[in-house]
Amino acid sequence: MDPLLTLAIAVITLAALITLGYVGLCWVSPFTRCRRCAGTGQTTTRILHRPRGCRRCDRGHRLRTGRRVYNYFHRLRTEATR
Ligand SMILES: [Zn+2]
Repeated sequence: MDPLLTLAIAVITLAALITLGYVGLCWVSPFTRCRRCAGTGQTTTRILHRPRGCRRCDRGHRLRTGRRVYNYFHRLRTEATR
């Protein structure tokens, strides 16, 4: 067998496994911890360091990017077939 073909098959299989793993992760656990506030839901202001609600998330949880993409296409399909 051609070594380049073997390498291509290995790379494609690895990419497919990583993609399927991420899809499974988005299906099992659609929410993840917010990176801005580290899951606390609060950040501090820059100057006085006073606590305030995080603007990026809802109480420390944010939707994964893969799940957001899935929801977009699901809504698009629902509206198209209505
Ligand atoms: Zn946050």
